[in-house]
Amino acid sequence: MNPSPAADGDPAKPLSFSSYSFLTAVFLLTLASCTERTDRKEPVPVPDSAAIKGQEKKAKDSVAALSRKKKKIYLTFDDGPNKGTRNVLGVIEEEKVPASFFIVGIHTTDTRQQEETWKMLQTDSTIELCNHSYSHAHNHYTSYYEKPGTIVTDFNYSNGKLGFRNKIARTPGRNAWRIGAIDHTDIYDSKAAVDSLYAAGYDVMGWDIEWTFDHKTLAPDADTALLLRRVYNLLEAKKTRTADHLVFLAHDQAFQKPEYVEELRYVVQQLKNNPEYELMLATQYPGIR
Ligand SMILES: [Zn+2]
Repeated sequence: MNPSPAADGDPAKPLSFSSYSFLTAVFLLTLASCTERTDRKEPVPVPDSAAIKGQEKKAKDSVAALSRKKKKIYLTFDDGPNKGTRNVLGVIEEEKVPASFFIVGIHTTDTRQQEETWKMLQTDSTIELCNHSYSHAHNHYTSYYEKPGTIVTDFNYSNGKLGFRNKIARTPGRNAWRIGAIDHTDIYDSKAAVDSLYAAGYDVMGWDIEWTFDHKTLAPDADTALLLRRVYNLLEAKKTRTADHLVFLAHDQAFQKPEYVEELRYVVQQLKNNPEYELMLATQYPGIR
């Protein structure tokens, strides 16, 4: 007789119900023993408050070290209040970035609208207002810088009238610097006048890069990619007045039309979102008194 299929030891034969029960029991026992082992595990030590504080300090230090490594960019806007100032302020507020506005005293009372803009600038706590003279030399720079006394009187007048909270000055029509050890005058004939401003207690801040504009159409230079590349190159080559710090100059009057405002927003966003940069206020520049 042929042997019965049950006795031939066929490996393909399906397991009987009792075999399943046995395997299930073994599995459950194994699982139980594992769980038991987990339960018996030593309790995880709870760090004491000193250890927590130590870890917090480490985290803070590394954030501070990261911030120290970042290159600092100072957004500065000249000549307001004028027809572009509210647009610039709008971008600065919407993008939530620090910026410094260098104010021309006479522009705060030129028109009703400029008076209102001046009030708006004063109520914004995230920006900084600095002195760009009272008269802006009435745009006659040569004669303005010939008499050192005149420039001090002009800046003092604006300071007294507008009540700036810092003594940072930017000379009209001249890229001049007097901050700490930085002593630079772009046009030598202005040297004595700028010296007198510094001696009168003003820190004179020029700029490392200017976003130029067409003085007839007031359109800002459209090549924003080139502008941003120049920012990068100046910092990389350490060709700014202070290494790793860059003062960026733009002019309010160049941002009157919506398309130019969007160009400004693009540039601000690119600088803000670059992890290698940190935007700062003028009073945070190294050496400011
Ligand atoms: Zn100016």
